[in-house]
This record gives sequence, structure tokens and C-alpha cells, in this order.
Amino acid sequence: MYHQVLQPVSMRICLVSAILLLVLLGSLHSAGVAQGPAEMIRVAIVKSAPSVTLSGEGLLALSDKGTPLVLNPPVAVKAGKDVLVIDGIGYRRVTFSASSAVYVNGKPYRGVAELLPAEKGILVVNELALDDYLVGLINCEISSAWPIEAVKAQAVIARTYALYRKEIRKASVYHLESSVIDQVYDGCEIEDSRAQRAVSDTAGEVLAFDNRIIQAFYHSNCGGRTEAAENVWGAAIPYLKGVDCQYCLAGQASSWEQRLSLHEIEDRLRVAGRKIGTLLDVKAGPRNHRGRLKSVNVVTSRGEHQISGDQFRKAVGYGVIKSTNFTVRVANGEAFFSGAGNGHGVGLCQWGGKQRALDGFNYAEILSYYYPGTELKKLSDIR
Ligand SMILES: [Zn+2]
Repeated sequence: MYHQVLQPVSMRICLVSAILLLVLLGSLHSAGVAQGPAEMIRVAIVKSAPSVTLSGEGLLALSDKGTPLVLNPPVAVKAGKDVLVIDGIGYRRVTFSASSAVYVNGKPYRGVAELLPAEKGILVVNELALDDYLVGLINCEISSAWPIEAVKAQAVIARTYALYRKEIRKASVYHLESSVIDQVYDGCEIEDSRAQRAVSDTAGEVLAFDNRIIQAFYHSNCGGRTEAAENVWGAAIPYLKGVDCQYCLAGQASSWEQRLSLHEIEDRLRVAGRKIGTLLDVKAGPRNHRGRLKSVNVVTSRGEHQISGDQFRKAVGYGVIKSTNFTVRVANGEAFFSGAGNGHGVGLCQWGGKQRALDGFNYAEILSYYYPGTELKKLSDIR
């Protein structure tokens, strides 16, 4: 069923089945995977939107008072002042669900879509079974066509990452962002049977250190050596010390180039809150022994500023400056960046993991290599 492309269907809301379906939600898709109630996760899928459109087969809507709403899909929800506005009526919260997937702005999602008024528009939180989330996520992060052991490593590490975030954000409206800030997640449209298999074959498995769920950072391509957490975020973590990884060099080109005008970099630094003058030059600062820049020197009309490598990437754009392992040269008002690797470099190197799987290692071996000292555990054994 996961090969099936889900198509939006507009149907009148069926009130009769509303309560029954909501009771079933959350256990349906993960039935057979876990015993007891399914582990749920809350992911922010839309933020600060002036309006959101909802549709789906058998679409159901409940107000914050639990009252079913009679609406004709597609339902347009607009942001009001501290309320959601539907057909001219204001609500504090509306929860949507559908028989197979609820479509949010045309994209299908498992579970429910909860709409809330937020400071700058509408916030949409997708609450769904954790394993359904993982199946949808796999093809956003890697490709399920990769060797199955690499896909299983991704499933375990994404589950571990999500549960860690859930624990520390348990009092928040949602646990995870759906972007590279946490894990890239774009709904269930790209679920497939191999992603499903990787999730069910590793059901309930997480990586632990001292019997606690680890902070399972991971990245695309380390460019030859993974990075210690302290070199990126300043805090030392025993299982994130960095390891040699030549494996990623065999696959996808790990080098990248980028050209940006000084004016553009200046704008981005300013938007990120840097109080700088006119940007005159960008220079590589000192490097750590893994070749990554500890800092970047920014020369402006008001003097020279040192910005940490990670903060520079964050300001200019993680997708633009793909790693902190780069050289830079400035000529004629333009900066030419030339770098290696993709991502912060901490934890699992996805492309390295792919090559390790091709070399015959299983997912447990791949994970213990990138997170030394950790153990693969059943969640039920450490809670
Ligand atoms: Zn690597």
C-alpha cells in the first residue's frame, strides 16, 4: 500500500464516523509493530501561515471543545487575531483527520493535523504514530533504494533523535521541526515498502549510552572525518567524538562550490542579527585537526569580526555553505567558496553509512562505528 500515490479527494464530512475514527487513530497504522498504545510524535509542518487548506477522504474536523464541525472540503482556514477563522467563525484550535491521510496544502499526512493560532499566523502540528513518521521521513533524508542495512540505520537513528527531542520538549506544543533544523519530513507521499520494512525490522530499537537515549545527531556527508560535538556546539558528548570516515568519499561527490556577492553575505549576516558595517572581505580563520574552520573572519568598514564556523553557516544558510570545511577567496566583490562534506559532520555520516552497508556491515555495526560506546536497545528495556 505504500507504493500507492495518494490523491486528494474532496468529500463532505461524515459526522457519524467521526468519534469512532478518532478513537482508532494513532493505533491503526502501527498495528502489529508495537504492543499497547503507539508511541506518538508531534511535528510542526507549517508555521506562520496566513492561511491553510485542508482536504482528504472522509475529512473530519473537531473544534477545541470537541464539537464536530460541518464543513465542505477543501476547507480554507485563515489566521485571525489569536484565532483561526473558518467560514467567518473564530476557533482556538481545530483538529483535522481523514480516513487514510489528511491533506495540508495539498500534501498528505498520517495521523491528525492540529491547527493553532500562533504569533505570526497559523501553526499546523502533525500528530502521528512515531513509526509512521519514520516511514515518511526516510525518503526525505536518504533514499530507501539504498542498501537495506543503511536504511535500517537511518530508521533507528531518526527514531532515537525524535524520542530524545520528544523527551526534552514534552511541555511544548510540538516536539520536532520538519526541516533540517531537526529532521526533514514532508508527509507520507513518499512512503514505500522498503522504508516501511526498515522501520518495522527495527521496531522499538534506539541507540543508548548508559541506558539513556542518545542525542543522535547525523548529517549527509562528513567529507572524510566526522566531527566532535564540542567543535560544533561547544559541549563535549562522550559518544560524539568524531571518527575517521573515508567511506563517504566513494559515493556522492563530497566537494562543493559556491559563489556569493559580498553584498549578499552582508545582508544575510545582518538578518541574522550581526551589527556589521559594509562587508569588505571574508577570510578563513583557524582550523581544527579535522580540517573544519573554527571561525570565519569577516572584515567590514567597522572592523574585523570573528564568527564561529557553525554560526557563519547558520547565518549565510546551511544549504548554501554546506560544511565548515571550506576555503574562501574574494575577488571583485564576490566570495568564492570551495568545500568538502555536507552537514555539521557530527554522528552518523549518511553517505558513509551507505558505503559501509555496501561493504557488508549490518545496521548495528554501522551505528556502533559512528556512535562509539553506544548500545542498540529496545525502548521498552530502558524506560
Ligand atoms: Zn563520511
